[in-house]
Amino acid sequence: MGILGLPNVGKSTFFNVLTKSEAQAENYPFCTIDPNESRVAISDDRFDWLVTHYQPLSKVPAFLNVVDIAGLVKGASEGQGLGNAFLSHVSACEALFHLCRVFEDADVTHVEGDVNPTRDLEIINQELRLKDLAYLESALDKVEKLAIRAGDKTKKAELDCLLKVKHLLEEKKFVRQHDWNDKDIEILNKHLFLTGKPLVYLVNLNEQDYIKKKNKWLPKIKAWIEENDPGAVLIPFSGAFELKVIEMQPEERENYIKETGVPSALDKIIKTGYKALQLEYFFTAGKDEVKAWTIQKGTKAPQAAGRIHTDFEKGFIMAEVMKVADLIEAGNENAVKAAGKYRQQGRNYVVEDGDVILFKFNA
Ligand code: GDP
Repeated sequence: MGILGLPNVGKSTFFNVLTKSEAQAENYPFCTIDPNESRVAISDDRFDWLVTHYQPLSKVPAFLNVVDIAGLVKGASEGQGLGNAFLSHVSACEALFHLCRVFEDADVTHVEGDVNPTRDLEIINQELRLKDLAYLESALDKVEKLAIRAGDKTKKAELDCLLKVKHLLEEKKFVRQHDWNDKDIEILNKHLFLTGKPLVYLVNLNEQDYIKKKNKWLPKIKAWIEENDPGAVLIPFSGAFELKVIEMQPEERENYIKETGVPSALDKIIKTGYKALQLEYFFTAGKDEVKAWTIQKGTKAPQAAGRIHTDFEKGFIMAEVMKVADLIEAGNENAVKAAGKYRQQGRNYVVEDGDVILFKFNA
């Protein structure tokens, strides 16, 4: 996932807190010139239970890759600021955290002069839309030539789909908002529109407002999202709060969180990002290793096995599956078997989030 937003809204701070990386956040637009990538572990009580239970030699949780993208400014689609470089970084991400600034701080300049998050949301979304429209124009040109002039019938569906995209963008909507059918999705996957990417809105509040969950902008941002990007998720957080908490010793942190009555928002942000990507994971678990394997939702057993090794997929015989919740409830594998909840599944089995799987295969 990429972190997207105007300069000085707190992207680097958020990224650093998220990854506990060393990069310095600076009060300077464009300080984050190269995309900075990091892998963030996804916390999961079920994974922790498996580790405690099996006491494995090695443990590997699921990860979310997060990229800090340099600040976007008005006019980026025409090359302003880091313009095209920025937009190609956005293009390389599969989904986006769109971070907007609500915190006031006279020492931190705002590129647009003052704090106004709904205006900022408009600016960024408009740049993404303009970039999609510019791309669309050249794509339409090519497809139109093939569909109409060369009479290529297979290109007709693509042309219709792209014209639908054009209509949406011109109506100030986003590609992700339309209810596309499977054929369209296949076409869209070839074109990868920026406004087609799943997106989660993050609202950066000052610490007090985050603790009180109150700020005059929050209802306005909610209304903006409802009107412009219905169904999108909004998560309020505070870079300042997260930074403070992450620098504390564990005990001090626990006390502080108890005192304020507000937990860190990072966990929720990471999990929501992972979900937005339509990802889930299954586990392999034993004395050697407990590991979470990331798969796309809807993956069948042989392809899930292929995540571990291509030989597992080629020689797939069956998957022995327990639900992690059943394992936790029963206490151990034998108890799951005794309860009749240890199942053998074939090639058509669709793996579910939290399955604990042992694959059988021909070597
Ligand atoms: P970016 O340009 O969007 O990556 O923004 P940075 O993370 O570099 O932050 C810009 C400046 O704002 C830095 O001086 C940060 O210390 C400051 N900053 C970031 N988050 C917060 C926040 O939640 N509250 C306050 N007061 N300052 C913040």
